[in-house]
Amino acid sequence: MRGGGMIGVVGDRAAAVGLAVVGAFHPRAGDGAPEGVGTICLLGARRGLMWRAFSGGKEASDGRPDPLDRWSRRVIGGLAAELGAVALYPFGGPPYQPFQRWAARGEGAVASPVAMQVTPGRGLWASWRGALGFGERIVLPRREGASPCPACPAPCRTACPVDAFAGGTYDVPRCVAHITSPAGAACREGGCLVRHACPAGRDLAPPAEQRRFHMEAFIRARLAAGA
Ligand code: SF4
Ligand code: SF4
Repeated sequence: MRGGGMIGVVGDRAAAVGLAVVGAFHPRAGDGAPEGVGTICLLGARRGLMWRAFSGGKEASDGRPDPLDRWSRRVIGGLAAELGAVALYPFGGPPYQPFQRWAARGEGAVASPVAMQVTPGRGLWASWRGALGFGERIVLPRREGASPCPACPAPCRTACPVDAFAGGTYDVPRCVAHITSPAGAACREGGCLVRHACPAGRDLAPPAEQRRFHMEAFIRARLAAGA
């Protein structure tokens, strides 16, 4: 999201630490924003910028759990202190902040045919590392882009080699069984083939190391949960 004034300042400061303002909105009643917050700026990754910043940070190599979440807390907490905002995160619950709703309000995220949110600008690669909540109503540029799905032949429906979305929901055990098997090397090493298939985010896949990192973290979490 580009713009001048305060939103431009937030974007510049976010970029300086490896993040991007991927959406912003003025919360209304029912949006689940903290009391007194007039603007929420969503922060996410754009291309390889975040991965480079994270890889060079102390959390990436200290051997402790949840390095990316800890890096996010450090840099977004720093941004919040610098800019006079409150830091908000999609992890660390329960309870969890309603990031899916915020993504719908701030980035135009909609439900895709494969039980994931898709955004006009980042396709199925959309994810959020956190958000900044400002007390004031910052002037925001008009958000561009509508749902990419109506005009799309929906390759996402058929990209999964084990049809993990066939029932209209995400069959996590089926996915995990595949990606932990020899046949699942493409997903495990390169990232979810369904996300790759979406034309709305085709040029925005994260770097290979980041895709592998997320898949390994996902496998660890699901196996720990018994799925
Ligand atoms: S592949 Fe097409 S239908 Fe599927 S989520 Fe992407 S834009 Fe929507
Ligand atoms: S990671 Fe692979 S197996 Fe799992 S949903 Fe994506 S394409 Fe299917």
